[in-house]
Amino acid sequence: MSGNIQNTCLRCGTCCIQGGPALHRQDLNLVRSDRITLSKLITVRKGELAHNPKTGRVQAVRAELVKISGTGQDWRCGYYDEVHKGCGIYGHRPQACEVLKCWDTEEILGLVEQDLLSRLDILEADNPIVPLLIEHERICPCPDLEGIAGGLADLSAAMKTEMEALVGRDLRFRTKVIREHGLQLAEELFYFGRPLFQLLQQLGIRISETPAGIALHWPTRKDGGT
Ligand code: SF4
Ligand code: SF4
Repeated sequence: MSGNIQNTCLRCGTCCIQGGPALHRQDLNLVRSDRITLSKLITVRKGELAHNPKTGRVQAVRAELVKISGTGQDWRCGYYDEVHKGCGIYGHRPQACEVLKCWDTEEILGLVEQDLLSRLDILEADNPIVPLLIEHERICPCPDLEGIAGGLADLSAAMKTEMEALVGRDLRFRTKVIREHGLQLAEELFYFGRPLFQLLQQLGIRISETPAGIALHWPTRKDGGT
């Protein structure tokens, strides 16, 4: 049996297929030097749900993080090279990938929520989108989705109205910025994270557009709402 104990990376790609890494301070130069491009990044805003490797649970993130985005179909790292079955930026991979040892997770778990890079750490101060993302955070903050998911059936009418307004505000803000600055979808996902309506859809909340604006359709206890 002892001959089967793994103590080295087999470069099998399993961890890459499970998702791209969050970026840490040590990775700043990789982004600033374009080894990792903004279009390959996605922002997970404070309040969004994400798997926490330390607790093993899906929880609201306590501080913004920026990670390498998935392929669009799933969370498989955008730098995973399907043809060669390996990392497309191996010599310049982020710190979390360097320290990841699937056979000994102590080091990678020690990195969770530590020294995370945020959008404002990454962007130069004179980037014209910076004031816009600050404004977006001010008027369209991501709510605590863990709290909302846990109390869906008991949300007050006032809270539901506020959420509808927030979703509408978020969509209008994005639409305006995308139009004025010609952002591609991948860039939008880095600068502003995923739209709030998409995050709510993950909780079973449906969205529709009515003449009066955005309408949210909340799951009932019968639908599986809790
Ligand atoms: S760390 Fe483990 S899962 Fe990831 S590539 Fe290496 S052997 Fe595969
Ligand atoms: S950056 Fe490379 S090593 Fe890291 S998850 Fe992506 S493909 Fe894997």
